[in-house]
Amino acid sequence: MTTQTDLYDVLGVSRDASADELKRAYRKLAMEYHPDRNKSDDAEARFKQINAAYDVLSDPEKRSKYDRFGMGGVNGGAQGFSGFDSFGGFGDIFDAFFRGTATRRAGPQRGSDLAAQLVITFEEAVFGTEKEITYERTEACPDCRATGQANAQPRGKCPDCDGNGELRRVQQSLFGQFVNVATCPRCRGEGTVVTDACKTCRGRGNRRAEVVRSVKIPGGVDSGAQVRLSGEGDAGQRGGPAGHLYVELSVRPHEQFKRVETDLVYDLPLNIAQAALGATVEVPTLDGEEIELELKPGTQHGEVHVVRGKGVPHLRGAGRGDLLVRTHVVTPTKLSDEQKELIQQLAASLGVPEIPEDGRQGGGSIFDRIRDAFA
Ligand SMILES: [Zn+2]
Ligand SMILES: [Zn+2]
Repeated sequence: MTTQTDLYDVLGVSRDASADELKRAYRKLAMEYHPDRNKSDDAEARFKQINAAYDVLSDPEKRSKYDRFGMGGVNGGAQGFSGFDSFGGFGDIFDAFFRGTATRRAGPQRGSDLAAQLVITFEEAVFGTEKEITYERTEACPDCRATGQANAQPRGKCPDCDGNGELRRVQQSLFGQFVNVATCPRCRGEGTVVTDACKTCRGRGNRRAEVVRSVKIPGGVDSGAQVRLSGEGDAGQRGGPAGHLYVELSVRPHEQFKRVETDLVYDLPLNIAQAALGATVEVPTLDGEEIELELKPGTQHGEVHVVRGKGVPHLRGAGRGDLLVRTHVVTPTKLSDEQKELIQQLAASLGVPEIPEDGRQGGGSIFDRIRDAFA
């Protein structure tokens, strides 16, 4: 490794490169020449060079000295970048790029979120309801107040880390000596351990408990919707807040109604006489009432009649969708001799029919929406 190498050349950037350009160039090269990834003979040397160059150029003060005085200015007259003592910021850079964030002493930790499933009826989803849900979660042990110590006495000092919560180890590496700081595995960074275990939780500080909570479900929800019960998940640790409970709803299908977003669809069966002559029919609604529907003579199979405001309530805001009544003309399959004779007479007088233009299915968005629901 030569001491004359220009640091800007090492990173492949111009002398007026911005901090961002430097960082990008460094990152790309460091990845490329990292000795763990690159097995070529000079990878190690290049990697050192790249890091040394970035160490200088990423520090505005060192960079300006380097610009004016060269490497001598940076190292106070020492020989180039052979000494690792100039790598003050190197550990940080290394950590940030290759190890993620450094370990930290354990602080308060939020409890886990929990998920639960709740099956509700079609009507409950449409009109809203309140349900009880039973589930298991982790709660702080009441007998030791989450300390794990009998009678909630203070915990003892961890002997492995002497109460520091972390273990420091001096390590030799390619880049020289550095101090490796790791979370103490025995106390998991807390610095304290259980010395006289609470009998209720056997020193764990928490316990599993079955709880019953009430879930308020607003009208208009559908399968897959989630209701959040804040703070009803697992208990936090070391004073951290509890997690949440997410209740996922699953809606049972209805025998008579189907749902298309905020509209309800009802299939109305008609016999051929009703369809031909017209009829006044009673149509049920999900609200439990009967609505009278006037069908004109010559009603076709698959016609849709809209009953305003008898659909699903809008989840956000006021109002409801519509009830879409779709006619379903049922061709008889079992006829008495008398009926057969009547229809034969009718057949002779009707002749071969033509399909009416407006009787075809498939036109208009309302048909598409309904078809989607039955697909
Ligand atoms: Zn306990
Ligand atoms: Zn420890």
